[in-house]
Amino acid sequence: MEIGSPVGVVLWPPPGPNLARTVTYTGVVSQTLRHYGVPYAEIAPEGLEAALPAIAVLITVGETADADLMKSVAGWVEQGGILIAVGGASGRPDLFGVSREAPAYSSWGGSLGMTGEGYLAVDGAHPVTDHVRKPLHFFNGGAFRPEPDARVLAWALDAHQRETSERAAVVETSRGKGRCLLVAPDVPGSIVRIRQGIAVHHDGVPAPDGTGPICDEVLKSGDGGVLDWAFDRDDVDGVPGFRAFLEPVADRWAELLVRAVLWGASTAGVRLPLLWLYPRNLPALALLTHDSDGNDPTKAQSLLRVLEQARLRSTWCVMDPGYPPETVSAILAARHEPAFHYDAMSDGTAWSSQEFARQYRRIADHFGAAPVTNKNHYLRWEGDLEGFEWCIAHGIRVDQSKGASKTGEAGFNFGSCHPYRPVRRNGAELPILEIPTPTQDLIVFAPPAIARELQKAVLTCHGIHHLLFHPAHIETAGVAEALIEAVDHARAAGMEWWTAVQVADWEEARLGCTWSRRGDAWEIAASSNLPDASVLWLDPDGPTERWGFGFRPEVRDITVGTTCPLGGTD
Ligand SMILES: [Zn+2]
Repeated sequence: MEIGSPVGVVLWPPPGPNLARTVTYTGVVSQTLRHYGVPYAEIAPEGLEAALPAIAVLITVGETADADLMKSVAGWVEQGGILIAVGGASGRPDLFGVSREAPAYSSWGGSLGMTGEGYLAVDGAHPVTDHVRKPLHFFNGGAFRPEPDARVLAWALDAHQRETSERAAVVETSRGKGRCLLVAPDVPGSIVRIRQGIAVHHDGVPAPDGTGPICDEVLKSGDGGVLDWAFDRDDVDGVPGFRAFLEPVADRWAELLVRAVLWGASTAGVRLPLLWLYPRNLPALALLTHDSDGNDPTKAQSLLRVLEQARLRSTWCVMDPGYPPETVSAILAARHEPAFHYDAMSDGTAWSSQEFARQYRRIADHFGAAPVTNKNHYLRWEGDLEGFEWCIAHGIRVDQSKGASKTGEAGFNFGSCHPYRPVRRNGAELPILEIPTPTQDLIVFAPPAIARELQKAVLTCHGIHHLLFHPAHIETAGVAEALIEAVDHARAAGMEWWTAVQVADWEEARLGCTWSRRGDAWEIAASSNLPDASVLWLDPDGPTERWGFGFRPEVRDITVGTTCPLGGTD
């Protein structure tokens, strides 16, 4: 709960069952702002009128028929308010300089002007869309045509990247002293669909170039991926024929929301702090994990020696029956994270809650500690959320099973390098973090060039650079060298290597923070300690650039039980 934030969020109630809608999972807008550390106040529609005077930037999600309330909002904009509408125009397309496109045919059951699947194509430079370097995949949204007084920042292409007849996707208008920004695509629904994929009941459709043969009679997370082999992959420099998912598409949508808020706050001249993603104002993090396939103790020892040389702690996902006791002791003595590698693929195993529980108990006994991180062997997956549910039932806090199991899937095939909480169909968040697995062993699974490309993307969207190396491949020529090089390269770019549980501790502590503001004085309170937390103050002259905006960083220890006043230092 944020008190006194100048940024307000209103999620309009969804239409009734069986009625058309252009936005889904509306709560993911709030979830996104929380993850990115934006202080905001979620306001119920009935409280909006009273809240308006204290708000500088208002985000609405969806559509409303409350004409009286929107009249008040329009008056507030005239006086200088910044209104940002997502996935619909709050029943007032005129405010945003657009008109709703009529459906092609009036169908039974209620038709509505909507985009279906498509791509966002940016038109010209603007702080809200400057990070979008190629057409950005979306799934549904409102279909709007611009009026002459609107500035179109991005257009909507259709699912085959053909131009639509003048469909505007992001539009800015001036109204009195205020501004309105419409982001017509279903941003939260697209984020969920891309990150979580669709439920897996069948093999997926393979890549048209033979590099992603996911039709293999093994159900895995990639079978539910929704990104496009042709449009959402890019050539990997220096590796002819190899295309990879180099754009974290869902993260780019999340960033567009964050940029819209920062643009709104800058335009309104509001002094806004962010609780930055990482301590010490780090630009990004890196995470190294291992899957123990085969459980060969000699190869585990080889990997341990490489890690000693790389001077880092990593996350060891170990599958039943595990290693001999001396190998386990060596892993734990080096303070690596003991984690679980659920096997639902080898002979005699199954995809079931009972089998998950059986293997988990054995691995917990094996380590003498209950693992809190899981990655499924072969990134196995079936159905929608049961993989998450089984983890949660065993106290697992991080899953890493959404990712690439074929070389042609390498990269952000689930569109994200940020930890996130998956959601149920009703939008409720699951109490677990997913950190996707974008690639596997360099040299063996994909050429080392992929690590460079992924690191570049992770840095631009300030996510987590996650590399997976199996002990089984560490003795293969060139693999150890590629690992060390990737580690050094990330360090040189300012990243720290953390274990998955460290990421979870930090992220959960951040999400537990609450802001309060009185006038220009901001305070933050924490439910877990956040040593060296970074607060970034929006400031065009600030030395730190994030999301295309300048910030002045303030690094502080935020401690449980105390309220930390902010803004006292430069
Ligand atoms: Zn495995």
